[in-house]
Parts: sequence; structure tokens; C-alpha cells
Amino acid sequence: MLDVRDLKKSFAGFLAVSDVSFSLLPRSIMAIIGPNGAGKSTLFNLITGHIQPTSGRVFHKGTDITAAAPHRICRRGIGRSFQHTNIFPGLTVFECIQAAFIAHHRRGSDFWGRAERLYRPETEALLERLGLADKADLLAGALSHGNQKQIELGIALASDPDILLLDEPTAGMSATETRETIDLLRSIAEERGLTLLFTEHDMEVVFSIAERIGVLHQGRLIAQGKPDEIRADAEVRRVYLGG
Ligand code: ADP
Ligand code: MG
Repeated sequence: MLDVRDLKKSFAGFLAVSDVSFSLLPRSIMAIIGPNGAGKSTLFNLITGHIQPTSGRVFHKGTDITAAAPHRICRRGIGRSFQHTNIFPGLTVFECIQAAFIAHHRRGSDFWGRAERLYRPETEALLERLGLADKADLLAGALSHGNQKQIELGIALASDPDILLLDEPTAGMSATETRETIDLLRSIAEERGLTLLFTEHDMEVVFSIAERIGVLHQGRLIAQGKPDEIRADAEVRRVYLGG
């Protein structure tokens, strides 16, 4: 589904991502873990075309998508969320999700004027699925941090992705919100046959949902494998898991 080969990103000589290679099988769930500054967000930005790699390649279903424009990568079926929540604060929750459906399905420039009726059933169904139906008419920017993260997930899902890249999907959430979000993600991934790649600080979450884990440290993927293998890895314990 996704093949990352020897990806490297240098910022003025500083190697934020260095020779990172891994693959995602269809319908698999992989977590990328590592301390702050390890290069996790940079790696996601390289995959989704938001920044250009210094070297290395990214393949989606066998097609080289290295450094393609973000909207093209999104249209191919790679959806994402951002570490710093990226929604439309001045729109209602309904309009945020509806705008995402419209943007994905319609490419003309004339649709905004008669947009209200477009993709209503799809938007309502997705809001229902996300548990946001009762907040449909509220301004997105006025909602809680956790709700805004759910809206961002909805915006990503509206583009009907086959891979979702989620950069710290539960950051800043309460324990209850975290649990609900993870359960929701797992069930939506299952229903839609999604492949998930996510970063997360909460190791309980990581080890409960990920089938594979990659450990980034100073830009390098120092280990990747099944949760049990990662837990037992001496270098990972030394640099990250602590003990
Ligand atoms: P993580 O998401 O794992 O916390 P990041 O990918 O955000 O790490 O950052 C990795 C390293 O690259 C950090 O040292 C960060 O300061 C640096 N970095 C990230 N983006 C830039 C940039 N645009 N210019 C310069 N340095 C950057
Ligand atoms: Mg980050």
C-alpha cells in the first residue's frame, strides 16, 4: 500500500529524517513512535508532499509519488491529519465536513454559490458515525480540542482515503476521549478496510492498537517490528521506553 525507500530530509545540513525505509501492507496498522524532535511529523510531511525530500522515494500502490503536490497525493487516497489541528474554525461542523466532500468530488470553480445542498446525506452520515451529529450547527472553532480533532478526522475521511496518516490523533485529549477516539479509529479502519499509520505518545494506545511499530530516534528508524519485538528491543528500551 505504501513503500518508503531511504527517505532523507536535511534542513540546512541538519538531518531531520535519515535513510528511513518501511512498507505498509493493505489494512495494516503501524505506529511511528519516538521522542519529540525524532522526525515523526517531518516523515509524515515527506510522505504527503507537504515538504520535499532531500533524497529517497515514496511509492503508493507501486506508483512513485515522491514530491507530488499534497492535493494530488490526497486524491490518490492518502488522507492525513496534522499534529496542530487543521480545520475551518469559522465554519460550522457540518460545513467543515461538507466542504471536504465538495472539495474531493467537485473540481469546478462554480460550485460554492450553490453548495448548501451538496453532499448532505454523506455529511450527515459521517457526522453520525463520528458522534458529532448533535454539534452539526455549532462553529467548529468554538468546540473542545477533542471535538476539533474528530472534525479533522472527518475532513480526512470525506476524501475516502485508503490510507490514513494521523499525526498524534489523541494529543491533548483526556483519557476518556483518547479511549473513545482509538475505539472509533479502529472500528472505522475495520469497516472501510483502511491502512493506518499514526504517531502517538501514549504507549498504552500504541501497544493496544498497532500491529507494527517503527521507532524513530534522531531521524533514524532504529527498530521496526511487532509490538512484542519492539518491547524486547534493547536499543529501543535504552533510548525511548526507559528500562
Ligand atoms: P517530531 O514530530 O518527531 O517531534 P519533527 O519532525 O517535528 O519531530 O522535527 C524533527 C526535527 O527537525 C526537529 O529537530 C525539528 O526542530 C526539525 N525541523 C522540523 N521542521 C523543520 C524546518 N522546517 N526547518 C528546520 N528544522 C526543522
Ligand atoms: Mg511531531
